[in-house]
Amino acid sequence: MTRIQGISISSGIAIGKAIVKRVIKHDIQFIQGKNTNEEKKRFHKARSKAIEEVTKIYDEMLKIKGEKEAEIFAAHITMLEDIELIEGVEAVIDEQSCNAEWALQHISNHFIAIFESMEDEYMKERALDIKDITSRIQRLLSGSQALSILELSEPAIIIADDLTPSDTAQMNPELVIGIINEIGGPTSHAAIIARMMGIPLVVAQEMTSLVKNGQMIVFDGDTGVIYTEPTEQCLKEYKEKQLKLAGRKLTLEKLKGTKSITKDGFKVELAGNIGNPKDVKMVLEQDGEAVGLFRTEFLYMSRDDFPNEEEQFMAYKEVLEKMDGRPVVIRTLDIGGDKELSYLDIPKEMNPFLGCRAIRFCLSKPDLWKVQIKALLRASVYGELRIMLPMITVMEELIKAKEIIEEVKVDLRNESIAFNESVSVGMMMETPAAAVMADMFAKEVDFFSIGTNDLIQYTIAVDRMNNEVAHLYSPYHPVVLTLIKKIVESAHGAGIWVGMCGEAAADKKLVPLWIGMGLDELSMSAPSILETRAQIQNLSKKEATKLVNDVLLLKTAEMIEKRLEESYKCLR
Ligand code: PEP
Ligand code: MG
Repeated sequence: MTRIQGISISSGIAIGKAIVKRVIKHDIQFIQGKNTNEEKKRFHKARSKAIEEVTKIYDEMLKIKGEKEAEIFAAHITMLEDIELIEGVEAVIDEQSCNAEWALQHISNHFIAIFESMEDEYMKERALDIKDITSRIQRLLSGSQALSILELSEPAIIIADDLTPSDTAQMNPELVIGIINEIGGPTSHAAIIARMMGIPLVVAQEMTSLVKNGQMIVFDGDTGVIYTEPTEQCLKEYKEKQLKLAGRKLTLEKLKGTKSITKDGFKVELAGNIGNPKDVKMVLEQDGEAVGLFRTEFLYMSRDDFPNEEEQFMAYKEVLEKMDGRPVVIRTLDIGGDKELSYLDIPKEMNPFLGCRAIRFCLSKPDLWKVQIKALLRASVYGELRIMLPMITVMEELIKAKEIIEEVKVDLRNESIAFNESVSVGMMMETPAAAVMADMFAKEVDFFSIGTNDLIQYTIAVDRMNNEVAHLYSPYHPVVLTLIKKIVESAHGAGIWVGMCGEAAADKKLVPLWIGMGLDELSMSAPSILETRAQIQNLSKKEATKLVNDVLLLKTAEMIEKRLEESYKCLR
């Protein structure tokens, strides 16, 4: 048994067999003097296996996500059966008496170059698909196992070197028992999605080299402790912990239907964060009172072009209808940072989190953004929609964004399409620039939602993805807390409501501060809702307000965290 200390990211105990998923890097050598018939046979065997794998992924995607998301894999099957590819590889093997790997790469490079040189953006993108199927056949030629998380046939723990947000979003939580990723912090989007799905996650370096496929693993998402090949005693201990957690869940079930209200009558709205319409089920199951953040960028990911107006409209309508009149905050596209769109030709940026991200990207492509706004406004008649703008830093952005929304409203009126004329428009408060000017912004919007994930990284100038500086990334930093207090006061001064949808909203040590400051809403991953409600029911607003004042006299994040920890323990 080996013990490894990782970083805790998403709660829960995971016990199961490992599947190691590495980003495969191929170094293809030219080998001459090969038996051409044997090489052709190897190529055909790997190609048939690739078709088998992709067909399985296609069926799975169709079942979990739907036709649109599955389409890309149907296209891969067509490419794998393409006669020009097959005959091309055979001809190179015959002419050069070389290995199948080299022949395949030679032909693929030829097709990739053709597609990449095309004018049409859609055709250009096809080069990526050729790369994808080539890499799959190369892996099979090298004898490696299928490692795609979509190909799991039994429950497993995924050990990955670089799990992307879209990888995570495509996972089936029934088969993924837990994740150990080599990179990313607690607020990376892969982490956020895992938390939303209730999948335990720990970050630990070099795990893909340390762990072998099929090895038994145990880990605790709360402490970050991982054991490979655990002893019987260790397994017993962790199974007991798992049972205890299940027991706690049962106790929390009893809070369903009760109010999120303090002992002295202060009421907070407890909402859920979602990444696609299917996540609403979890929010409702956990008795969420609203959707406080729908990260719409996930509708745009794991596919090969932009979702059109109708697709978006259907998604927003589905969420609103399922929430049945309860508030739904839908955030407009927040792409950039660690959320990439494979089909978008955005030049690589030195600092993507400071670059053409979120509202900046949308305002640079108004026609594309208008499609989303139109879909949102059309959906607004199906429930209590609130539109939220991400990463506003300067007033001009807010004014421009509101102008565009008004333009779309005019178009809808001209087309006699119904929408809610008084739909709320709010903004994320996730940059120090916006926080300092909160008084002025509050006069221009209907609500604020504090995005602590970014507010922390931009305030302390610490990359939320970088483990090397993770010790600086702290929600307890006195300046972060001071800014949050200011945002709340500015909102209430202008008579608008203010919520929080960053990961800090469900931080047990911080919840008393949010109550003390008077936040109106807290939005979090669904599995945290009932635990937070239990905590709120045990708090007094009066004492929490005193705690805010005490804490803001302290100088360091460490001192504040310690003080909050003591206060949390007292209340348990
Ligand atoms: C945040 O920044 O806190 C937030 C909720 O948005 P995201 O995590 O998607 O950047
Ligand atoms: Mg953010």
